[in-house]
Amino acid sequence: MTETNRCLWCHGGQGELREIVLEVGDRLAGAWRQRRVLVHPEHEGELRDHQRLLRGFGRTFLVGVAVLLGLMVLIEVPLVWWSARWGLAGIGLSVAALGALLVALPFATPETVRLWGVRGSVLAVRGAGSVLATLGSALLAFALLALG
Ligand SMILES: [Zn+2]
Repeated sequence: MTETNRCLWCHGGQGELREIVLEVGDRLAGAWRQRRVLVHPEHEGELRDHQRLLRGFGRTFLVGVAVLLGLMVLIEVPLVWWSARWGLAGIGLSVAALGALLVALPFATPETVRLWGVRGSVLAVRGAGSVLATLGSALLAFALLALG
């Protein structure tokens, strides 16, 4: 079975599939173009909502990830040499913020979407985001409370 006869949202091939035209970007910042996709009629609303979120916040997401990773590599990791407490607190804060960003804007790569459908990718990214948010918060708490 190819992706052409599966629902783009749930990745299921059973039941009645409807062909709709959707604005799709290949990459988050990529060129948007109209594409015909298949979707269950009952999943069309959720799929369109997600595409709207992606279209509206794709660049915000990319900039957010770049800024948080940049802060970590350029400032917080070197800071650990000067002050383990504030360096690790900063890293924890960045990791937690990155996790929160992934939960709020669960955008995946086209490869992931092709493998799991949009719904599966959203769940996977939100799951990873929750783990990062928890680990980051724990690191932040540890640095502030346990390190002098
Ligand atoms: Zn579906």
